[in-house]
Amino acid sequence: MNQADLNLAVTLRHELHAHPELSRQETWTKARLMNFLQEHTKLELHDRGSWFYALYRGMGVGKIAFRADFDALPMEETCELPYRSQCPGVAHKCGHDGHSAALALLGLTLERTGAARDVYLIFQPAEEVGAGGEACAALLKEEHIGEVYAFHNMPGYPLHTLALRKGTMNCASKGVTYRFEGVSTHASTPELGRNPAQAVARIVGALPGLTRQEDHRGLVMATVVQIAVGEPAFGISAYRGALLLTLRAQYQEELDALSQQVTDLARQAAEEDGLTLTIEEQDVFPETANHPAGVERVEKAAQALGLPVVEMEEPMRGSEDFGWYLRQAEGAMFLLGDGEDHQPLHRTDFDFPDALLGTACALFQKLI
Ligand SMILES: [Zn+2]
Ligand SMILES: [Zn+2]
Repeated sequence: MNQADLNLAVTLRHELHAHPELSRQETWTKARLMNFLQEHTKLELHDRGSWFYALYRGMGVGKIAFRADFDALPMEETCELPYRSQCPGVAHKCGHDGHSAALALLGLTLERTGAARDVYLIFQPAEEVGAGGEACAALLKEEHIGEVYAFHNMPGYPLHTLALRKGTMNCASKGVTYRFEGVSTHASTPELGRNPAQAVARIVGALPGLTRQEDHRGLVMATVVQIAVGEPAFGISAYRGALLLTLRAQYQEELDALSQQVTDLARQAAEEDGLTLTIEEQDVFPETANHPAGVERVEKAAQALGLPVVEMEEPMRGSEDFGWYLRQAEGAMFLLGDGEDHQPLHRTDFDFPDALLGTACALFQKLI
């Protein structure tokens, strides 16, 4: 790895870190990444609105893509860094600043060393809310790209250790809001109104039975995120209620089945209690399923670089919208260790370790 390129990538990472932007609002970040690649490379830049890709044209020996996300989180930063967040309440606490800087470093490296294959560098917004991946993944089909990879930094594994698995790498998940509307009445005459409390309670009570591990092939979870029924007014019987659940499963078909079961239950409860029901979904992440051949290629690349490799027994519970890409092309999502004692992701004192920039870039290079 060229030291001047590495220095540029570290400086870029710190700039991104100091200017974090929330999902769907990453205009400065996207512009900065584009400017950086324009200034330091001759890669073709393709602006797609909320996202962009950089293309290195090789000698037509097949196509390969890499993806980096670039959104930050609605959190304070509590660590003292010279490049600390300049935006109150927003901070890079998942290391997406590092993912993007590592991919930009690959751009610098391609400029210097070249490659036989066409290499697409995809810079994606809104990963944290599952809103960016699907649109960017469509590029794979559009451009007939057969292979795609990405990495996520991961505390808990030793620094520079590769961790991954065949099949499910990240669970599928989605947020579902079940909103009930009844009829208001005085708290002394609840029989004249329609109160959603019992319907919500019946659904919550049924969740452990619907998610029994012995009835499923993989992990299945339903987490109550919020129950909001009625107002803090003792004279009024509650007549509006919302139940917010995060549904999660290792296998996509088990998530879809669980979602259908809870929906059926909610419809039944609404009908029994004379309530109207509306259902909204958000933060929808597909299962991120690694292709065995993709995993083998990443492992081989890591071994060639002398990096320790861990085959994970369990998938990550947390979701990753890279699953959209792996529906379009062969490849894998892999983890690179931040260090065993590194601060966890999504904690206010987390910071991406710069030492991983060169490692991630070297792995990408080996995969080309
Ligand atoms: Zn995150
Ligand atoms: Zn992340």
